[in-house]
Amino acid sequence: MALCPKCHGILNFWNVKAECPYCGVNIPNYDWEASLDADAEKAEKSWVKFRRFTGNLKSALFGNVFRIIRFACTFLPLVVLILPLANYTLNLPFYGDWSNNFTLLDFSMNTLLSLNWGSLIGLMASETLGSPVSMLIISILLTYLAIVFGVLNFVFVLLKAPSLKAGANIVLCLLSTVSFATAGILFTSSVSQIGATTAPFIDGSVQFGLFVGIALFTLNVVLNVLINRSFKKQRKAQA
Ligand SMILES: [Zn+2]
Repeated sequence: MALCPKCHGILNFWNVKAECPYCGVNIPNYDWEASLDADAEKAEKSWVKFRRFTGNLKSALFGNVFRIIRFACTFLPLVVLILPLANYTLNLPFYGDWSNNFTLLDFSMNTLLSLNWGSLIGLMASETLGSPVSMLIISILLTYLAIVFGVLNFVFVLLKAPSLKAGANIVLCLLSTVSFATAGILFTSSVSQIGATTAPFIDGSVQFGLFVGIALFTLNVVLNVLINRSFKKQRKAQA
């Protein structure tokens, strides 16, 4: 339903004339200069908005060398997928000794699905092995969680670039760091506890990949803290 721009009378759809049936004003021409200005202003505003969106996006990701480094470093922690996070020797009845390096890629491709999860979960209920086996499983889950946070970090780097914000990135990179560090502590403590039992079925230690991961996630925390500061300044200048 349309209204007359001058007298605000209701214009029905069968009213095809250019003049208002109530006040006789020519509707298409009424105050057209003012409405033209309003249109132009609207277009100008949305153009400025669009320019700011794309400008900030580019500036946040590639604005200077430091920001390019931050963007590149977002992907860097993915290298931990192929680095050995730990080595371990399994000593299972009927299977003998079996040594391997734990990398997330190898574990995901070769071990994760063939693992006897049923008996592992059964072990979690055991009195002597329950707590160290739970810690072992949680430590593995935490390494995956760190990668999930890392992927989310990349998504948020893109999502938050137009608004020049990096707070979520600081939190996500911190979570990755803490997950990885906790995984290392739990693994070490779990293996030493299992070693002290009468059934020491696993032995092992953390490897350099774990420390590389902690270092790279921490690097991302630091980069995002610094970037967030310069983002704040930039936002102030735009306000
Ligand atoms: Zn009218």
